[in-house]
Amino acid sequence: MTVFCGTSNCGKLREFRLAAPDFEIRPVEAAAPEEHGATFEENARIKALYYARFADGWVFADDSGLEVDALGGAPGVHSARFAGPRATDEANNRLLLERLAGARNRSARFVCVIALARGGEVIKTFRGVVNGRILDAPRGSHGFGYDPLFFYEPFGCTFGEAPDEKKMMVSHRAQALAEMFQYLRSQ
Ligand code: IMP
Repeated sequence: MTVFCGTSNCGKLREFRLAAPDFEIRPVEAAAPEEHGATFEENARIKALYYARFADGWVFADDSGLEVDALGGAPGVHSARFAGPRATDEANNRLLLERLAGARNRSARFVCVIALARGGEVIKTFRGVVNGRILDAPRGSHGFGYDPLFFYEPFGCTFGEAPDEKKMMVSHRAQALAEMFQYLRSQ
């Protein structure tokens, strides 16, 4: 089965494909929309409906981010642009460490919401969450975004130190994708 995905993030696309080798996952060729929602759900819906205008069939989009308890849940929906509109992962990670300087509570979670659309409407949303803590220096070069700072206790290392296949056994995105592909297989 072919499913279209709306993303311009190569790290995400790599993970989407790892999650379901039996599906053909094709990126929608379109410029990214504005993300002005206040929640992951709202943004995922906005993106899925937008990308669905450019593709025929099932289209999904995810919105995801990092919630840090000591920062009241920030950067949250602003994770991609925490350090500015076109911020690099390095700049975002640096800012996160600055904001957490001296903080004893380092607990955090990655959240992912996927919206699945077809025929101009969102049919279903799927949510995944994974808990960890923020280290005081990056470790590892796998993954993307905040992965090198995100220490995952059961692995005893950061998501940046874990190979993509290992991260995809437990991650927020893997959980949401697994539910979505299970739903699609039942259709
Ligand atoms: P968006 O979903 O495209 O709005 O952006 C999500 C942002 O959250 C990414 O650019 C990363 O900064 C962060 N993020 C989401 N998922 C992950 C992940 O699996 N690892 C590391 N960072 C992530």
